[in-house]
Amino acid sequence: MRPVKKGKWPTNQFGYIKLPADYRDFLPDLKADIGHYCSYCECRTRSLDVEHVIPKSINPQKLEYNWYNLLLSCPKCNRDYKKDWNPSRRGYVWPDTHDTFDIYEYHCDGSMSVNSSVSPYVQIMAQNTINLMHLNSENSSDDELVDMRAEMWETANEDLEDYNIGKKLPDQVAKHAKKTGYWSVWMTVFKDHPEVTQKIADAFPGTLPKYCTP
Ligand SMILES: [Zn+2]
Repeated sequence: MRPVKKGKWPTNQFGYIKLPADYRDFLPDLKADIGHYCSYCECRTRSLDVEHVIPKSINPQKLEYNWYNLLLSCPKCNRDYKKDWNPSRRGYVWPDTHDTFDIYEYHCDGSMSVNSSVSPYVQIMAQNTINLMHLNSENSSDDELVDMRAEMWETANEDLEDYNIGKKLPDQVAKHAKKTGYWSVWMTVFKDHPEVTQKIADAFPGTLPKYCTP
């Protein structure tokens, strides 16, 4: 899960904070801010929902139009899995509040796991997020996402081989990753090459600055 640093609440042409009649009007702002990717499964897709981290049904007045409660999500993650299951942010890790790349590890078979070096408390929250969002085959009825990540691992690994023999430059790898999504897979495959991971982090809007070019 790519950790992001959301920008400030968007403003309108008069400099006032934007308060649209429909929360979906934040979609272009969110895409500009954090890119065309699902905040949870990391797929790149044209059909993205404006996702309420704390379900808007809990307190529509406070939550529905609150910029800081919004992320982007593919319909599967939002409508099939997350729904209204989490009554608050507590007990989970979130890509806009936690360093979710440090917390999770990604593997060549497409699975992911919680990094055992994070505190036991964070480990529990991180596993809760995996369960909530069905991010692993252990809690999903289908292995589609795991298969997608495994395929992306292969793709990234081919780029790594090309990079190692000088056939690809960091910018070319980053451009490729930007097109395909699954940021965490690319970052993991290139983990021994900070000169590449920084470019990959730069290429995805809103990535937590610690991963970007200083
Ligand atoms: Zn998704």
